[in-house]
Amino acid sequence: MIQLIKGFKDILPEDNLLWQKIEFAARELFEDFGYREIKLPILEKSELFARSIGESTDIVEKEMYTFEDGSKGTITLRPEATASAVRSYIQHKMYAKDPIQKLYTIGPMFRRERPQKGRYRQFYQIDAEVFGIDSPYIDAQIILMLVTLFERLNVPDINVLINSLGCPECRPNFQKALLDLLESSKDNLCEDCIRRVDKNPLRVLDCKKEGCREAVKNAPSIIDYLCSACEEHFDVVKRSLKKRNISYEIDKNLVRGLDYYTRTIFEVQTTSLGAQSAVAGGGRYDGLIEALGGPKQPAIGFAIGFDRLSELLSQTVESVETGPDLFIIAPDSEKDMVFEWACDLNLSGIKTDMDYSGRSRKSLMKRANKINTSYVLIVDERELSCGNVILKNMNDSDQKEIPVESLVDSVKSVITG
Ligand code: AMP
Repeated sequence: MIQLIKGFKDILPEDNLLWQKIEFAARELFEDFGYREIKLPILEKSELFARSIGESTDIVEKEMYTFEDGSKGTITLRPEATASAVRSYIQHKMYAKDPIQKLYTIGPMFRRERPQKGRYRQFYQIDAEVFGIDSPYIDAQIILMLVTLFERLNVPDINVLINSLGCPECRPNFQKALLDLLESSKDNLCEDCIRRVDKNPLRVLDCKKEGCREAVKNAPSIIDYLCSACEEHFDVVKRSLKKRNISYEIDKNLVRGLDYYTRTIFEVQTTSLGAQSAVAGGGRYDGLIEALGGPKQPAIGFAIGFDRLSELLSQTVESVETGPDLFIIAPDSEKDMVFEWACDLNLSGIKTDMDYSGRSRKSLMKRANKINTSYVLIVDERELSCGNVILKNMNDSDQKEIPVESLVDSVKSVITG
């Protein structure tokens, strides 16, 4: 039997109830905040990700699914959505119509990470991006929107971590102080981090290995190095979150794995998911639009790990699958007529199933119980000769005679009340 590829998974119909509930809540909330949906392709030119996420990030260095595309160079299954959203903003000159664009997109992402619970090679993200606003109030608002979604969905045990990465003006000072510390404790760093010291020293702060954690325990805090504009920006974000009663912690070691971030960054973590504790993350990336060839416009966004969010909720929410409204049992001789009824009922909004097998009424009543139907419509030759069929309520076993003449309307009025 051909099996799934490692790190990939099916989301089965019974699990999709919860996925749909999450997606519905997200769409409703985001649209209330003025976000519009954008659908983006799953394949992009590899260069887009190398230039945006950063050549020396884990994603670009080792996790991308990249293919030769004939003579046209290489293409990559998107590992995240921000780069594509920015490409689209630039390519369609959305900024010419209105530099301010609030967009959201929901879909699969691909990273060739080591699979484990909560970490897949195809996973889904719910993504929101704002282009064209540099005000710190939008940072606070996007965090508020994220936290509100989690509250509406009753996500347990969440923790909001925030930090500021500064800007190209103040970050180099911090980077220098960090480098001084890292050079002196290089012996304790893991192999990856030894490479990062030269290429991407901030990422060392993010490493989960014991030796590296120890080495950066006394690392300088980037917040102490912010220029006055970045400091003021961060102050307004913090003040606005406090005003909206959003609890957060400042995590001076939060850097996130992508190169494009500037100023405010944030992550939502949970204690209920074991090792993979991050359910959402995001931040400001004021330089990316310009770096990808667009106008100088600021931006901020986040991505929620859809799989992790649904795993979190499946621990607390029991999604109850409902059966059909109606199941029709009829002798073979009446199948032509019953087929018409079933179609008409489906089209009138009654979730109807009929039997196609011609099995005995007794075994079909068993099936009606198994599929958890609310009502059964029984077509009996004797009743039918008087122009009636029987509608049975499976909850209280109450039975009614329904005139065939006005079948759809009569069934509908009983079922919908
Ligand atoms: P990132 O795009 O790395 O900032 O990730 C944003 C969110 O996507 C994370 O907080 C996770 O919840 C989720 N995520 C990232 N990588 C994976 C993965 N390999 N499998 C499942 N979820 C993931």
